[in-house]
Amino acid sequence: MAPKSNALPVLQSDPARPSPGVGRRRFLADALRLSGGALVLLAGGSAAEALAAVQAPHPEAYRWDEHLYAYLIDTTKCIGCGSCVRACAAENQVPDGFYRTWIERYVVGMEQTHVESPNGGKDGFGPIQVGFTATKSFFVPKMCNHCRATPCVQVCPVGASYRTKDGVVMVDGERCIGCAYCVQACPFGSRFISPVTHTAEKCTWCYHRVTKGLRPACVEVCPTGARQFGDLKREDDPVRRAIAQDRVEVLQGHLLTEPQCYYLHLDKEVR
Ligand code: SF4
Ligand code: SF4
Repeated sequence: MAPKSNALPVLQSDPARPSPGVGRRRFLADALRLSGGALVLLAGGSAAEALAAVQAPHPEAYRWDEHLYAYLIDTTKCIGCGSCVRACAAENQVPDGFYRTWIERYVVGMEQTHVESPNGGKDGFGPIQVGFTATKSFFVPKMCNHCRATPCVQVCPVGASYRTKDGVVMVDGERCIGCAYCVQACPFGSRFISPVTHTAEKCTWCYHRVTKGLRPACVEVCPTGARQFGDLKREDDPVRRAIAQDRVEVLQGHLLTEPQCYYLHLDKEVR
């Protein structure tokens, strides 16, 4: 059974489209194996769009065409406490050893940079111990970037990965066959195959919360305001203002995936 974070709050079902079960997953997995992945060619963006349309939240419960979400991280505010990682794990039942969001500590010296993320930063960070003289160190929270041009969605052979109209990249745990194509396609390491569900999982910006007007759990608990969640369709939104004023950067912008997770004060050492 998919973790609760993968479940949309109120879903419309498509009576013409039977719900895929384990048998279908096995069939597709076998077919993929036998065809060497040729099914990828059969599933383009249209399959993902069709799935997104089928899964639109009920219009009376939530109007997803009235929102367009984005996320903002101020790296100068992160203190590496790990509260966000713990909150995410608890909220989304993330298996031990896997992370939907994680914190990296960069330790920079004159000639080298050391990056570490013990237990995803879940337990915080101890004293810096590197074999060189550090000139600076800082923390960088990371997660799925909810890209607009999504390699993970494009490679999914069954349309289980999709982008919602309000800008959230999701995985339908009922359709996912666990082939891990999306895990390999994501250049940010944001996805994993859950040892519990055997399907792809990742950050959903706590979609089950935001569609109820709540903030993602990581944003809710961050004691310094390093993490902000915004709605680009609201004129007075601080995240929208930061983006409009061109004060933000994204990770690996040269890959042209159009991340919707933006960073303030991103150090040039961050990759
Ligand atoms: S960060 Fe990775 S998983 Fe998230 S939308 Fe981009 S490519 Fe997909
Ligand atoms: S809760 Fe905030 S300050 Fe603490 S590690 Fe996460 S982003 Fe950084």
